Amino acid sequence: MQAASNRTSIATGPRRADKSRAAPPVVAADDLGLLFALPIAAAIFCLKDGTLSVEATNAKFLELAGSHGASESVVETFKRYAEGPGGLFTRAYLANPGSAPDETEFADGEGVTRHFLKLKLSPLAGKAGHARCLLCVVDRTVEVRAENNLRAEMLRDSLTGLPNRLSFTETIEIAGEKVARDLEHAVLVVDVLRFSRINESMGSLAGDELLITFARRLISGLRGGDVLARTGGNEFGVLVSLRRGVADALKAAERIQDVMSAPFKISDLEIKVECAIGVALMHAAQDPEELFRNAQFAVKQAKAIGKPQVYEPKEASAARRRFSIETELRRALDKDQLKLFYQPLIDLKSGEVAGFEALARWTHDDRGEISPSEFIPVAEESGLILQLGRWAMDKATQTMADWDRQTGHELPCYVAVNLSAIQVARDDIADIVSDALRSSGLKGERLTLELTESSIVQDPGRATRVFEALKALNATVAMDDFGTGYSSLAYLQKLPIDVLKIDRSFVSGMMRDPDSVAIVRAVLSLADALGMSTTAEGIETVELATTLAALGCSSGQGFYFAKPLQADSALEYWKSRRKS
Ligand code: C2E
Ligand code: MG
Ligand code: MG
Repeated sequence: MQAASNRTSIATGPRRADKSRAAPPVVAADDLGLLFALPIAAAIFCLKDGTLSVEATNAKFLELAGSHGASESVVETFKRYAEGPGGLFTRAYLANPGSAPDETEFADGEGVTRHFLKLKLSPLAGKAGHARCLLCVVDRTVEVRAENNLRAEMLRDSLTGLPNRLSFTETIEIAGEKVARDLEHAVLVVDVLRFSRINESMGSLAGDELLITFARRLISGLRGGDVLARTGGNEFGVLVSLRRGVADALKAAERIQDVMSAPFKISDLEIKVECAIGVALMHAAQDPEELFRNAQFAVKQAKAIGKPQVYEPKEASAARRRFSIETELRRALDKDQLKLFYQPLIDLKSGEVAGFEALARWTHDDRGEISPSEFIPVAEESGLILQLGRWAMDKATQTMADWDRQTGHELPCYVAVNLSAIQVARDDIADIVSDALRSSGLKGERLTLELTESSIVQDPGRATRVFEALKALNATVAMDDFGTGYSSLAYLQKLPIDVLKIDRSFVSGMMRDPDSVAIVRAVLSLADALGMSTTAEGIETVELATTLAALGCSSGQGFYFAKPLQADSALEYWKSRRKS
């Protein structure tokens, strides 16, 4: 290439191509000064009668224009240039200087010789019939390569070399754009279980080694076309294509679990690594982020259940409902909108009311009645149970004291208040109970606390202290829903428990299931041996009431006798069953 050849005139175009050799450069001195002063590749072009010709170039332009060619002549170089994207762009500009774009970018060449060029055109004064312009070419190759490298870095996880979360979402998006129907793809989220424990006990280097090995094994469990990414610290994402819908997705999950079943050799130790897998199936026009979140949601359930889970939309709506219930429950508690109802507990021998169980009721302004089995777990999860529990304790003891005042004497019955395991673990139960007794003036014997086996299981030491403190206040302790938890019989013997409440599931099963009868009998004789009394929950028929009475159960509770009642109705009910 003639790098020194600054002034050339070559014309190309459909007509008068022969002019290229004859026409001398016609360049104003100012323009040439401008051209030579430019530190970048530049040339002056002219369009006359549809023929594009170059009037002058600087050395850099020649280098650039010839950089991708073999040893061709200047004429050939410019001919090629004029027919290439730069020439076409320049021609269009000169043909329509007012409206055609004056800037463009394009890539030229392949592989390592690929160049990225930016072209900028500026108008120059021309003679009649000539349109002229200055072309400046910036070689952006280095810049674009740096940008591309940076972007590749941004999309790659540096530890495993896999695509990262950002890149994975892009991949899902691209796959989503191509799908014609639902369930052509699925996203699997694979979570390395107990990874933080491995990291803490063996060090982060061993943790890194484990992740790399885990990633390698994952790859070996995938099929061609599946895309693997590291989407979080101990979380991997896989995009799989499906032929037979959810069955294929579960098969992929099974393959992954198979490849993880052999122990991992990390720092000379063999460790077993388990993973939880959540699956979300892609629907047409689905947001990639949403799809990924769905798979993450499914992984949470997979952890709890212990096997791969497929995301079900209803789970997410249930989660949303739980969240809004939490907000509204907080408000309802602050505004004192909850009510306490009282369900009679009947002495099965005498048929009189032995006591009442206080049960929280919430009528929501828009949603209507919300069941305690829905809002109590939300209150437990959010910690609102502490506020709710204190409220129930105060309200129940005050109602009892109120009934005493109304009837003019101490009612021979008690009130039972439910205590959640969260209250036992986090609140000062003894303090709350003694405060409630003091402010209502009720004696401890008139109060029963219903606790579940879960309050013992979580922290037996603390539970023992709480139970003993309650006994010191003369209160009665009842084990609620007995038979559904995991408490050991040793604790049952050790702890000061007065009453076993036999869970409704065993009671209601008694009439059709001999096993339930056997369980109820066993609980009754266990209670007898330990010197405890018994209450059967969920008595809905007279047969159940008489059978349980015949088996020796002390008291019963259920819709057969009465549903939970408002305070006034409960007192009336007590009066109505009074025999003396
Ligand atoms: P629980 O303590 O086992 O209360 C007995 C539940 O069984 C009550 O449900 C009661 O309405 C229901 N029940 C009683 N007899 C029958 C029957 O014959 N048939 C049927 N199908 N059900 C019967 P509820 O009121 O829906 O309360 C559910 C659970 O919510 C309670 O179970 C208790 O664990 C919890 N809970 C309710 N109020 C409170 C509260 O103030 N504090 C705490 N910590 N938990 C509460
Ligand atoms: Mg209860
Ligand atoms: Mg119960």
